[in-house]
Amino acid sequence: MLLIEIKDNTCDFCGCCVGVCPEDAIALQEARIDIIEERCTNCAKCVWACPFEALIFHRPVREAAS
Ligand code: SF4
Ligand code: SF4
Repeated sequence: MLLIEIKDNTCDFCGCCVGVCPEDAIALQEARIDIIEERCTNCAKCVWACPFEALIFHRPVREAAS
């Protein structure tokens, strides 16, 4: 499950996230980035690397103990 979200209209396409991703899971094209879910391990390195705070890391929701 992909926990990284790209905020609308915030990405500057600088490529910083692409360079830090250890899984080569981010594809930067002209005016567009895509995160490849099958490769992403949700390590969040891209989130911390983004100078524009364009990426959001959603914490996994734990099911309540019954
Ligand atoms: S969370 Fe990690 S593996 Fe996924 S796209 Fe970001 S840097 Fe790559
Ligand atoms: S580091 Fe941030 S602004 Fe740069 S390409 Fe990645 S998501 Fe976009």
